[in-house]
Amino acid sequence: LTERIAGEGAAAWDIHYRALARQAAGEDITVLSVGDPDFATPTPIVESAVASLRGGATHYPDVQGKLALRQAIAAGYRRQGLDVGPDNVIVMAGAQCGLYAAAQCLLDPGDEVLVPEPSYVTYEAVLRATGAEMVQVPLHSKADFRLDPVALEAAITPRTRAILLNSPHNPTGQLIDADTWEAIAALCQRHDLWLIADEVYAELIFEGEHLCPATLPDMAERSVIVSSLSKSHAMTGWRLGWVLGPEALIEHLTHLALCMLYGCPDFIQDAACDALQTPPAELHAMRETYRARRDAVCEALAKSTSVTAIRPPAGMFLMVDVRATGLSSQAFADRLLDEEGISVLSGEAFGPSAAGFVRLSLTVEAEHLTAASLRLAACAERARVELSPTPATEA
Ligand code: PMP
Ligand code: GLN
Repeated sequence: LTERIAGEGAAAWDIHYRALARQAAGEDITVLSVGDPDFATPTPIVESAVASLRGGATHYPDVQGKLALRQAIAAGYRRQGLDVGPDNVIVMAGAQCGLYAAAQCLLDPGDEVLVPEPSYVTYEAVLRATGAEMVQVPLHSKADFRLDPVALEAAITPRTRAILLNSPHNPTGQLIDADTWEAIAALCQRHDLWLIADEVYAELIFEGEHLCPATLPDMAERSVIVSSLSKSHAMTGWRLGWVLGPEALIEHLTHLALCMLYGCPDFIQDAACDALQTPPAELHAMRETYRARRDAVCEALAKSTSVTAIRPPAGMFLMVDVRATGLSSQAFADRLLDEEGISVLSGEAFGPSAAGFVRLSLTVEAEHLTAASLRLAACAERARVELSPTPATEA
């Protein structure tokens, strides 16, 4: 198992922890290396958890999740046109736990799972912990890292069992459009594959629309949808997520949860139920804040000749091309932390196709982000000039 869960995932955060250590030591560090909303969880959700605790919700919870919460989660998907109920849902300790548990139930040693790359750093260990292999399908920066279903299909072998997709995407902020989803659904059916969709950023879309692939014809029976309240409701620390899928799979997941998790805290489930009633206006306000931050970074970097930002239509991250500096993305990230006290993650941590890019999180105020972006561009400019000093004019 040690070998199976080894991988780039854990190492990706080294620079982030270095940044936090320096911040804790009193340095002025701008942390753009983690996707953790800087907003507090809305007060009514906190009040709900407190009231539930005071009311005595301190016992073992329902292993599958409280019926009221599973009903509220299912209702969200019914509004998207999916014919599901509480038996299609299991509550998990965050999407991460949901992904891990779903992989354990779906995969056998030797199976292959297609994952577009770059991808979220934990996927490899999640899949390999089952004995399956992650098969990376490159996304191309020239296409702004948009997914090409033809490339996906070309990677299918007789051992392919599932495709794991994440839209909106971490780290690129790309969104899979309806035509692409339809092509993916068709190939899942042609090749009899499971589709695992990680939708944790589904509420954070600036342009375009989210489509839950389980809503496409004949896809509900082969789709596994994983999501959480972490990003949508600024609740990363509450560890509340879920898996939605066919009833038989949810039954297996419940058996696994019984021996692994024994359910999520009761009072957190009560608060989650209330969170799902949050007026859309409040979620909208958070989304608009991320949008303004994205725009601020793009505007600040637009004039730079040393870096180029790819404008993301969704999510809470932005990819910046630093190849003109001549440095690897890790070397640039290290230099940016040393010289400017700004921490970002190296694109390579997410996959080889993101080499030469760094990922910025939109998790500080717009004004602060603008200043950090200008300093990033200046740092890149210095590196570029060092690499190729202006040649002396010919005599
Ligand atoms: N999937 C992706 C793509 C993520 O970026 C993250 C981290 N936020 C997760 C899953 C895990 O989220 P959660 O906090 O719900 O476990
Ligand atoms: N998913 C978030 C990110 O990509 C944070 C998860 C974590 O801290 N491990 O930054």
